[in-house]
Amino acid sequence: MALSSRKPGLVYLVGAGPGDPDLITLRGIECLKQADVVVYDRLANLSLLAHAKRAELIDVGKQPNRHPVPQTQINAILVEKAQAGNIVVRLKGGDPCVFGRGGEEALALAEAGLPFEIVPGITSAIAAPAYAGIPVTQRNMSCSVAIITGHRAVDNNPQCDWIGSAAGADTLVFLMGIGNLPHLVEQLIRQGRSPDTPVALVEQGTRTTQKTVAGTLANIVERSVNIRPPAVIIVGEVVRLRESLRWFDRVDRRPLLGLRVLNTRPLEQAGELSRRLALLGAESVELPTTRIMPVDNPGPLNTAIAGLVASNGRSPGYDWIIFTSANAVSFFFKRFLALGYDVRTLAGIKLGAAGQSTIDALQSYGLNPDSSPPYTSPALAAQISSQAGQRVLLPCSNADWPDVVDLLRQKGTTVNPVVTYAIQAAEPDPIALAALLKGQVDVATFISASGLNGLASMLKDRTLAEVLAPLTVACIGPTTADTARAMGIRVDLVAQKHTLDGLIDALLTWHRAGSESPAVMPEAIALR
Ligand code: SAH
Repeated sequence: MALSSRKPGLVYLVGAGPGDPDLITLRGIECLKQADVVVYDRLANLSLLAHAKRAELIDVGKQPNRHPVPQTQINAILVEKAQAGNIVVRLKGGDPCVFGRGGEEALALAEAGLPFEIVPGITSAIAAPAYAGIPVTQRNMSCSVAIITGHRAVDNNPQCDWIGSAAGADTLVFLMGIGNLPHLVEQLIRQGRSPDTPVALVEQGTRTTQKTVAGTLANIVERSVNIRPPAVIIVGEVVRLRESLRWFDRVDRRPLLGLRVLNTRPLEQAGELSRRLALLGAESVELPTTRIMPVDNPGPLNTAIAGLVASNGRSPGYDWIIFTSANAVSFFFKRFLALGYDVRTLAGIKLGAAGQSTIDALQSYGLNPDSSPPYTSPALAAQISSQAGQRVLLPCSNADWPDVVDLLRQKGTTVNPVVTYAIQAAEPDPIALAALLKGQVDVATFISASGLNGLASMLKDRTLAEVLAPLTVACIGPTTADTARAMGIRVDLVAQKHTLDGLIDALLTWHRAGSESPAVMPEAIALR
């Protein structure tokens, strides 16, 4: 179809929130999911782009002192993409209409006769102070708040007494003001604010990298040396409340504050680790290296399950089902239940589970393994093959050949490994990969050997060992760690308990110990 005959598209001017990716609205996420094109800049948390799975991504980022994409050109991109029939999201930091030029872009669209919608966002003017423990209004302390651009100080525009008109408010919040701080302070004192007026600067508000300094009009300029944009300036009595209300940037509450952690879990499972890390103050860089999918051909699995069901006393049948991963459990039972069976059919068959997360997965189906944790492959093999003539069904992936299969066969046990789920290589996320290669990550975490292999295959001209050398490398257990070492990677941390909780515990212990000397958990030494 010729473009000109297509219906014009639609532009959503979406507020991305101030930085923490959870501070976007539900509607904002919905728009990103539907988008054909996303036009974004640096203030929006770029991890939000993961919601826009099928969109063309256009970076119009404006970095201080770098060449910005001119506003007229941004307007032109929006008009052109919408005229071509696309659903366009213009993703903006904070709220699109608070010094976000959302109004200008909307006008350009209105003039072009194109439909648009505005999806408000949480502005940094309110959120950054809130995350620093500073409410912008407070009864008996501040009845009014003004949000002011700090940029116009150099304009000398006599028509716009920009500070004077706002100076009547109790609380002043300046955006884009860090570069003009000395001038702003001078103006405020000249206009009658006491030099003792409390002032706070909040950089990177609501991100795990948030930084705050507080002082007064008299001393804030000298205290501001380490503060860089983006930052807000808060002036007024409410700043004093931070002393009692500081909640976010506290190491006692968020012991991993500011730590950047590479999360290589599969796409479908990355979120859980990221959320747990975020609660501790760490920022996840999600770079899924694999995808976990159902098998293309479930025939062999169906046959195996049918054989299992027939096993109650009769051949062909199994004495054991051994699960070596939580994925094996969940994909096995999805298939099992989809075929119309229920778990009572398994009465009489013994269940084995390797690793705590596998045991947890089994227990979520109301099933306890027939032996107590912790399981390792040799222990598992020893236990099963000690009973003569055992027949074992072993659900596994297309990629991993669990070492327990060989161990069991060596001991004369009959094992049928059946492919239950597929591990596929994931397309590398360019933003997360760039963050890793540019050294914007402190710790790399690995949950499986396939995670390591997947990441290695994403690198073009450097080895994984080279890329990981400056980082701390943390593995969930000895098998993953051994794979890493075989690739020439120095492993700094091995979780004592081979679960996400265990991995996080290892990170916490290492971080508490000063984050500098590589720490190997005691059990890892014992297991090698
Ligand atoms: N529309 C945005 C503001 C854009 S103007 C909003 O509503 O938040 C850019 C300015 O916003 C920056 O110079 C800085 O003053 C402020 N800003 C944006 N994100 C910030 C953050 N995470 N922490 C502190 N200030 C921020």
